[in-house]
Amino acid sequence: MTIEPAAIRRHRVVIIGSGFGGLSAAKALKKADVEVTLIAKTTHHLFQPLLYQVATGVLSEGEIAPATRIILEKTKNCKVLLGNVTNIDLKNKTVTSHLVDWDTVTPFDSLIVAAGASSSYFGRDEFARFAPGMKTIDDALELRGRILGAFEAAEVTTDLEERARRMTFVVVGAGPTGVEVAGQIAEIADRTLKNTFRNIDSRDCRVILLDAANAVLPPMGENLGLKAQRRLQNMGVEIQLGAMVTNVDYNGIEIKDMKTGETRRIPCAVKVWSAGVSASPLGKMLADQSDGTVIDRAGRVVVEPDLSIKGYPYVFVVGDMMNVPNVPGMAQGAIQGAKYAAKRITASLDGKDDPTNRKPFKYWDKGSMATVSRFSAVCSVPLPGGRKLEFGGFIAWLAWLGLHLFYLVMPTKSFVQATTTTMSWFITFIGSGRGQLAITERFVYGRLAMEQLASVEKAPELPMASGQIQNANGAPANKPDPVS
Ligand SMILES: Cc1cc2nc3c(=O)[nH]c(=O)nc-3n(C[C@H](O)[C@H](O)[C@H](O)COP(=O)(O)OP(=O)(O)OC[C@H]3O[C@@H](n4cnc5c(N)ncnc54)[C@H](O)[C@@H]3O)c2cc1C
Repeated sequence: MTIEPAAIRRHRVVIIGSGFGGLSAAKALKKADVEVTLIAKTTHHLFQPLLYQVATGVLSEGEIAPATRIILEKTKNCKVLLGNVTNIDLKNKTVTSHLVDWDTVTPFDSLIVAAGASSSYFGRDEFARFAPGMKTIDDALELRGRILGAFEAAEVTTDLEERARRMTFVVVGAGPTGVEVAGQIAEIADRTLKNTFRNIDSRDCRVILLDAANAVLPPMGENLGLKAQRRLQNMGVEIQLGAMVTNVDYNGIEIKDMKTGETRRIPCAVKVWSAGVSASPLGKMLADQSDGTVIDRAGRVVVEPDLSIKGYPYVFVVGDMMNVPNVPGMAQGAIQGAKYAAKRITASLDGKDDPTNRKPFKYWDKGSMATVSRFSAVCSVPLPGGRKLEFGGFIAWLAWLGLHLFYLVMPTKSFVQATTTTMSWFITFIGSGRGQLAITERFVYGRLAMEQLASVEKAPELPMASGQIQNANGAPANKPDPVS
C-alpha cells in the first residue's frame, strides 16, 4: 500500500448526507483545490418540503428526489458514495460506511456532517408502526397507500361504525407539515375523490389536526396561525389543540386534554405523525469523541459558534443536526451552515483560516411559509428593526409556488424536471385531478414486510410460516390490513 504524504496530496473533505446541507457543501467546494467524498445512504437529494405532495398524489417521487450523482456530475472534485455511515473516528480521521456486504473506510482532513433528523415519537417508538412520520420517500409512499387505502376499505364495509373509523384521518402536530397534510387530505376527499365511490361519499370523511400546543403553526406567530386555522376549518378540518397523544394503536388514537386532564379516544384508521424530530445518532457519536461538546434532548449537537465541535476545528455539524440558537430546522439553516463550513475549509487551504479567531456563523432569516390548501398559504418575512411582514391567502400562495419551483429546479437545472413539476401542479391546482394516485402492494405492506424480515433475521425460530406476515392486530395473516 502506498501512502501519499499530506504535503503532495489534495486536502480531503468528507461530507455526510446529500440533503440540503450536504449538497450545498459539495457545491460550495466545487472550485476549491480539494478532494471531496460525499457519502449518503440514499442515491437522491430529497426535497423534503414537498414530501406531502408525494403522499397525497400531486407529485411523483422522482420529481422531488433527483439523483445526487447526476446533480454533482459537473462537480469534478466530488465523488459520491452510497452507504450508511456506521462509524466516525475523529482521532484517526476516518468515516466508515456500509453498503450491502461491504464496509468502506474513507479518510478525511475536514469533515462536514449533515445527516439530518428523523421523526421522534418522544420515547414511544412503537407508535411509528401505526402513525408513520414523513421524512423519506418511503414514508410518503406508504402514507399515500394508507390514505387512499382507507377510502377503499371504507367502500367495502357495511358496518357503519367501522366505515366511520376508516374514514377518519388524524394528523398529529400542527406545524407546517401537519397543516399541509391535513389540508391536502381534505382536498383529496372534497375534490379528487368526490363522486368516484358508490357506497361512500369521500366528503363524509373526518380530518382532524391535533397538537399538544395551543396554536396552529406556533413558530409563525398568532396572526398567521389563526389565518391557517380558519382556512382549514373552512375546509372542514377539525382542529383540536391542547391535545396530547398518549397512545396510538391499530384502531385509533388516545388523547389527553391538557386543560381538563381527561382522556378521550378517536377511532381512526389513518394516523400521520408530524409532531417532532430527533437528530441523527451520528451527532452523539461525534459529541462522545469531542472535548466536551454535548447534544440536546432532540439529539442535536450543541456546536461551537463556528459550527465545529470542541477540539476539532475542521469537523463541522450543519443543518438539522446542529443546535444553534435562533436557527430553525429549515432548509435555509442547512444551506447557510454548509456554505459557512465550506468557506472555512477553503480559507484554510490558503492559510487564511485561524480556528481560534473565526467569525461566528450568522444566520440570515429569509422568512418562512406554509401552504394550507390550493391557492392559500401563509408567509412571514422578517424586516429590519425586528418587525415582520406577514401575509396570507393567494399572494402568499403565489410566493410559495414561485419559491418552491425555483428551489426544486435549482439543484438540477433541469428543464424536464421544471416542466413535469409545473404540469403536475397545473393539473392539481386548476382541475381536481391528481396524476399520482397509484398505490402498490409494496407501498401498503412495505413496512410490515420489513418488520417481518427483521424479526426472522433476529429470531429464525419464530413460529410463522415463510411468506406470512403478522398483521396489525398481532395475528398472522397472509397480508396485513392496509390501513393499520
Ligand atoms: C415533511 C417536511 C417538510 C418540510 N418543509 C420545509 C419547508 O417548507 N421549508 C423549509 O425550509 N424546510 C422544510 N423542512 C425542513 C428541511 O427539509 C430540513 O431542515 C432540511 O432538509 C435539513 O437539511 P439537512 O441537510 O440537515 O438534512 P436532510 O435534508 O434531512 O439530509 C440528511 C441526509 O443525510 C443522509 N443520512 C442520514 N443518516 C445517514 C447515515 N448514517 N449515513 C449516510 N447518510 C445519512 C440522508 O440520507 C440525507 O441524504 C421540511 C422537512 C420535512 C420532513
